[in-house]
Amino acid sequence: MGKRVFIGVGHGGSDPGACANGLRESDVNLTMALAMKTALERAGVAVGISRTRDENDRLAEEIRACNAFAPDLAVEVHNNAGGGDGFECFISGKNPIARQLAERIEREVKGIGQNSRGVKTSTTLGWVNKVSAPAVLCEGFFLDSPDRLIGDTAAKQRAFGEAYARAVLAQLGVAEPAKPQLAPAAQADRKRVQQRFAFDDSTMDFLDRHPFSAALYARLAAAK
Ligand SMILES: [Zn+2]
Repeated sequence: MGKRVFIGVGHGGSDPGACANGLRESDVNLTMALAMKTALERAGVAVGISRTRDENDRLAEEIRACNAFAPDLAVEVHNNAGGGDGFECFISGKNPIARQLAERIEREVKGIGQNSRGVKTSTTLGWVNKVSAPAVLCEGFFLDSPDRLIGDTAAKQRAFGEAYARAVLAQLGVAEPAKPQLAPAAQADRKRVQQRFAFDDSTMDFLDRHPFSAALYARLAAAK
């Protein structure tokens, strides 16, 4: 049977979460969550998500929506404030699968250059204690300290979401889809297109998966 994942997107609407240095946590959470959703769906996973735009998104409603979706795994996306440094991940401590997932996410986040404050248990956080599926709550980085440099652009935030997705896929035992290979001539066009339009790596990754990416790069590279 197909695998199912629910993503809770922290805050939103009248509740922006942490705000510092021009970053709003509700926006950062959404960018990370949507990147995770895209990567999971590309691998054939059915994804439920608590919001896909900036709107009110109460925790009680998230928990209800998540339990109704009955996912195999549940990930809540937050970012941090309070002047610390590093990623952290919360679990209830009662579910060994949630702990495994948290540790996989921690490894993937270290792989994109973020340090970790560790996997922590909480008996009070609603998400990890009231969601029926194995659930984790990720705090990616601190918005209000120099730690923000690991996540202060949309491209860096998408890298977090993609790291979370890799960990989720590994936990589910679902293979990541192979990226199509481009011929050398098309690779030269690709390089030109990226420089010319200043596309970031995750945009290029998206274009690489277009069924006619080689023709697309040729046209864009040659366009006046
Ligand atoms: Zn938050």
